[in-house]
Amino acid sequence: MWVKAMDIVLDRLVMQEADLSTVAAISGSGQQHGSLYWSKHGISALQNLDPEKFLHAQIDDSAFVVNRTPIWMDASTTKQCLEMETAIGGHTQMVQLTGSKCYERFTGPQIRKIYQQRTHAYEDAQRISLVSSFLASLFLGNVAPIDFSDGSGMNLLDIREKSWSKACLNACAPDLDERLGQAVSANTVLGDVSEYFAKRFCFPESCKVVACTGDNPSALAGMLVDNDWLSVSLGTSDTLMMSFEKPPIWEEGHVLCHPTQTDEFMGLLCFRNGSLVREAMNNVEAEGNWGKFNELLESTPRGNFGNMAVHFNDMEIIPKAKGTLRWNKDCLPNSPDASKGVIKFRSPQIEIRALIEGQMLHHRAVAEDMGFQFGTNTKVLATGGASINKSILQVIADVFNAPVHIQTESEAALMGAAYRASYALYRHESDETVPLSYRDYILSLTSNNLQLVCEPHKDSEAIYAPMLDRYRDMAGILQSGTL
Ligand code: ADP
Repeated sequence: MWVKAMDIVLDRLVMQEADLSTVAAISGSGQQHGSLYWSKHGISALQNLDPEKFLHAQIDDSAFVVNRTPIWMDASTTKQCLEMETAIGGHTQMVQLTGSKCYERFTGPQIRKIYQQRTHAYEDAQRISLVSSFLASLFLGNVAPIDFSDGSGMNLLDIREKSWSKACLNACAPDLDERLGQAVSANTVLGDVSEYFAKRFCFPESCKVVACTGDNPSALAGMLVDNDWLSVSLGTSDTLMMSFEKPPIWEEGHVLCHPTQTDEFMGLLCFRNGSLVREAMNNVEAEGNWGKFNELLESTPRGNFGNMAVHFNDMEIIPKAKGTLRWNKDCLPNSPDASKGVIKFRSPQIEIRALIEGQMLHHRAVAEDMGFQFGTNTKVLATGGASINKSILQVIADVFNAPVHIQTESEAALMGAAYRASYALYRHESDETVPLSYRDYILSLTSNNLQLVCEPHKDSEAIYAPMLDRYRDMAGILQSGTL
């Protein structure tokens, strides 16, 4: 399916009469964590592609030793996570080295499961690719290296040293370093496109293939934002992304090597109780009509008369807590009734505002815990399905006390791949002693397509700073009730 998808995409480009002979460099974005296992025959097929034939006719099932690729939705490796963390001395050590605790979907535990359950297949695997490096491999006609940013989603890469951690490799599977190959910076020009692409699609023979990266780092690269920005994705789950000069040491969330500032880091936080909880509230209180939902939200004042709610309908990721808690202005954190709160607020308006303010206070608290410093220069970039909802964005502006922008161009991950290809080519060809930074270079070619949509009200910090403390008390109560 992966290979067929490439055939389909390339054919569509041809049908649209895209002039591929003008492509100077190409890079890509692939969903994080998935892995592909090359057979010896597969690598040889990749190196000897016949331009007369489709890719999938040449790189078929026999090119891989595992035909059902593990992807990020696979959560079946709890045992392997425990084994890997135990082998290297606990989860604190795993966080220190790789930027994340061991997660089921991460590639290291997935590889270990294949090694344990399908030992022969593992032994026959000549090389292992991530989805992103697999994409680069197809263009290159050779197995491409994994880049540091996507490599940070494996529980195998030492994010400070930017090389595979021996301890993690040993805890995962034998002789893994030769299967992974050396990891490289996401700015690396890997070589020219293979003859297959030059002959079949008229790519110039000199067209450079630049290391591909994961979809989250690629999205950050596509946003063209600097370290003052917090990006808030309101998709099915809510996700926050931010940049750090030094890697924060915090046992929750993920720290990845930065995809464009190669000596910096990116923080990634995922929350489970995002759009689905908003949708459920919309259905119950506003007949599933976002217009009505927004009218109700806007008819209540900031601070919601002291009414607050935390809705973790499903087990939240950070903090690990489940349940719903509503407080009115009279609830005291230390009172015996604090864990009960109030059963229901007296109007849909209050329910809706309490949900949205509670969600955004939660996001702000966790971002602060990770080390993001909110200040006068902080700016927010909202993306994802719910970012078309201005009433929700206004709550974000107020709770974060920062202006909120949206992108006029969607598909940040896609744009990130194109921008990175352009920048890597510039660095490859430039003999400037002080080359432009990634952001300056790309912004010298194109605008960043950001539009300011909401500004915080003047009284926001005065209202929400005390509510942030109350939110922390409420989340703490839910968390201790969950343990
Ligand atoms: P994905 O994570 O699948 O890419 P999207 O970015 O497409 O998701 O976002 C889908 C979510 O956007 C849905 O869960 C939906 O509830 C939410 N959504 C769509 N329109 C609105 C709206 N007007 N207001 C609030 N949420 C919305």
